[in-house]
Amino acid sequence: MSKYAIAIHGGAGTILRSAMSAEKEQLYKQALSDAILAAETLLQNAGSAIEAVEAAVISLENNPLFNAGKGAVFAHNGKNEMDAAIMDGANLMAGAVAGITHVKNPISLARAIMEKSEHVFLAGEGAMDFARTVHIEPATDEYLYTPMRFQQFQEALKSDQISLDHNDSNTEKKFGTVGAVALDMHGNIAAATSTGGMTNKKFGRVGDSPVIGAGTYANNKTCAISCTGHGEFFIRAVVAYDISCL
Ligand code: ASP
Repeated sequence: MSKYAIAIHGGAGTILRSAMSAEKEQLYKQALSDAILAAETLLQNAGSAIEAVEAAVISLENNPLFNAGKGAVFAHNGKNEMDAAIMDGANLMAGAVAGITHVKNPISLARAIMEKSEHVFLAGEGAMDFARTVHIEPATDEYLYTPMRFQQFQEALKSDQISLDHNDSNTEKKFGTVGAVALDMHGNIAAATSTGGMTNKKFGRVGDSPVIGAGTYANNKTCAISCTGHGEFFIRAVVAYDISCL
């Protein structure tokens, strides 16, 4: 098989064209193109679907426009608690992290858990400890601080609201969870999702993104899925696995 495919998302929601400046639109388009290119370059050269989804998500995590990695939202305790997961459809191997704070690319930590540990899912301090063991690049509070995110958090604190970025009425603040699915030349598929979750979420809250079968799933026999939206609903309905079953 010599066909390959890559699809990405930068979060659910609608940004009204009327409220989008040409300059902002260009930044979004460029960010999405960069992510596709990072994955496609690997796929064209017979790279694996896992490598491709990781590369696409890293590109989006490094961009402050999205709610993942650099642009992750603030939890109620003022920290950036991030969730991520990756799954290999060829062998149903998976890796996931929840509630991690000082990691530049949570998706790479999820992949390291899949490939270098005997576990699937690590959370909080244990995940951070493992990250140090496998030399995953750390991130400082300064790196993870973005002024717009902080302002968004302050507003959410005032109104005591927990919000998805894209539910915000101010277009300037519409950002989203990121994800990718890919098919490689060898016929294997993979999925990856990374997020800061919801603004002003309770600390310790885990969304659907890192829950295998809820926000992320891949199986060569069916399909690869990366979800975005209000995580609590996706967890209750086990959405990604349900889609695969269907
Ligand atoms: N699904 C994510 C969560 O609930 C949020 C999102 O998709 O933007 O954590």
